[in-house]
Amino acid sequence: MDMKANKKLGLKERYALMTRDLEWDTTYEPMDKVFPCTSYEGIKIHDWDKWQDPFRLTMDAYWKYQAEKERKLYAIIDAFNQNNGHLGVTDARYLNAVKLFIGAVPHLEYMAFRGFSHLGRQMVGAGPRVACLMQAIDELRHYQTQIHSISNYNKYYNGMHDFANQMSRVWYLSVTKSFFDDAYTSGPFEFMVAIGFSFEYVLTNLLFVPFISGAAYNGDMAAMTFGFSAQSDEARHMTLGLECIKFMLEQDPDNLPIVQRWMDKWMHRGARILGVIGMMMDYMLPKRVMSWQEAWEAYYEQNGSALFNDLARYGIRPPKVGQLAAFEKEHISHQLWAGFYQYGALTSFHTWIPSDEEMDWLSSKYPNTFDKYYRPRWEYWKEEAKQGRRFYNKTLPMLCQTCQIPLLFTEPDDPTQISYRDTEYKGEHYHFCSDGCKEIFEHEPEKYIQSWLPAHQIVQGNSFNPGTDPTAPDFDVVGAVFQHYNMQHGRDNLDFDGSEDQKNFAAWRAAATKN
Ligand code: FE
Ligand code: ZN
Repeated sequence: MDMKANKKLGLKERYALMTRDLEWDTTYEPMDKVFPCTSYEGIKIHDWDKWQDPFRLTMDAYWKYQAEKERKLYAIIDAFNQNNGHLGVTDARYLNAVKLFIGAVPHLEYMAFRGFSHLGRQMVGAGPRVACLMQAIDELRHYQTQIHSISNYNKYYNGMHDFANQMSRVWYLSVTKSFFDDAYTSGPFEFMVAIGFSFEYVLTNLLFVPFISGAAYNGDMAAMTFGFSAQSDEARHMTLGLECIKFMLEQDPDNLPIVQRWMDKWMHRGARILGVIGMMMDYMLPKRVMSWQEAWEAYYEQNGSALFNDLARYGIRPPKVGQLAAFEKEHISHQLWAGFYQYGALTSFHTWIPSDEEMDWLSSKYPNTFDKYYRPRWEYWKEEAKQGRRFYNKTLPMLCQTCQIPLLFTEPDDPTQISYRDTEYKGEHYHFCSDGCKEIFEHEPEKYIQSWLPAHQIVQGNSFNPGTDPTAPDFDVVGAVFQHYNMQHGRDNLDFDGSEDQKNFAAWRAAATKN
C-alpha cells in the first residue's frame, strides 16, 4: 500500500491547493492592463506571492461560520423583539444614541462593502483578493444586520424613519459620509490604509467597544447582538489591514513615505469622526461605561503605541494626530455635545443639558477642563432655558473643507479660541478646523474643492424641496431645510424633556410593570 498517497495534507498545503492554484497570470493581455489600479498611487509591488493570508479560510468554511452566526443573531433579535425588549433599556434617552448610529453607521458598512468588492477585483494576488471578497460580504452583512436589529425600535420611537435618504442630505451625516466617499474614491492601497488599517485596526476598538458595551450597559440587546456578531469578523479585517501595511513596507523602500502620509491623513480623519463616539459616551448614555478620555488612553495611547512601536522597524513613526488628540481628549466630547445642543432643532434626535449628577460625573472624569470651561456654559444655558429662552442657533456654521465638521474645536494652547485655518486655491478661499485637515487639503486640493458641504448647499439653494421659494418674505431657512431632510418638527428634534419618546416610554413601561 502506498502510504504517501494517503498522507493527510497539512493546513497550509490544503489551503494552497484550494486557493492559490485557482490563480493564473494572463497571457493575451498584459497583467497591468487587467489590473490597472494597483500602480497609479505610486506603490511598488515586486512579488504578490509574498502576501500570506494568515487565516487560510476557504469559502466553504466561511459560509459555514457566517451562517451559524446569522442563525444565532436572528434567534436573539426575534426573542428580544417579541418580548418587548425595548422597554428594558435604561431610559428612552438612550435611544438617541441609536438614532445617531442608524443615521451614520450602516451606510459606512455599505460603502465598505463596495470598496472591498472593488479591491477584490483590483488586487493582483489571490491572497488579498480572497480576503477582500470575504470582507466585502461581511460588510454587507453588517449593513443588513444593523438595520434589521434597529428596525424594531423604529416601530416605537421617532427619528429613524428615513435614515437612508437622510444620509446624503443631513449636515452632521455628511461628516461620516464624506469620510467613506474620500476613501472609496482613492486607490486600492490608500483604501486599505484608510479602512483596513486606520479604521479597522486602530479605530474600530474606539467605535465598537464603547458603543457595544454602552448598549449592553443600557439594556439594548439588539445593538449588543449585532455588535458581537460583527466583532467576530473584525479579527479577520484587522489582520487584513495590518498585513497590507507590512506587505507594502516590505516590498519596496519607496513605499514608506506614501504609507506614512496615508497613515497621518486617515488617523486624523478617523479621530475627527470618533469625537462623536466620545460625545455619546460622555453625554448620551444614561448609564456610562467609561469617559472618552479613558477610552482614548486605553485604546489609542496604550494599544496604539504598542502597534506603532512594532511598525517602527519599518521606519514608520506614530501618526501626527496623536499630539492633537493628547489635548483634545479632554475637550472634544464637551465641544461636540454643545454643538449639537445649539443645533438641536436640525437633528433627527433629541438633545438635553446634563443633569446635576451627570455634571458631577463629568467633573470627576475631566478634572482639568469640565468645571473650568464647560460647566459654566451648561449652567448658563440651563438658566436661559428656565427663563423660556432655550438657545437654538439659527445661523449656518462654517464647515471644515476636509472633515466637514463645523468649526467648533479650539486651539490646543487656548481652549477659549476657535481653531481656524484657511488657505487660498485658484482664487477661492477654503477653511479648516485644524492643521491636519489643512494639510490633507493642500496635498490633494482638486479632490477636496469638490466637497459637498451641507451649509454651502443650503446657501446655494440645493437643500430645499421642489417648489420652495427662498425669496418669500416670511421664508424660514431652517424649516425649509428640515422639510428637505424629511424630519418631523417637534417629534424628531428639540429637547428630550417633553418629547413624545419620553412620554410614550414612561407610559408603556408603566403599563408593563404596574397594574
Ligand atoms: Fe463592518
Ligand atoms: Zn477638519
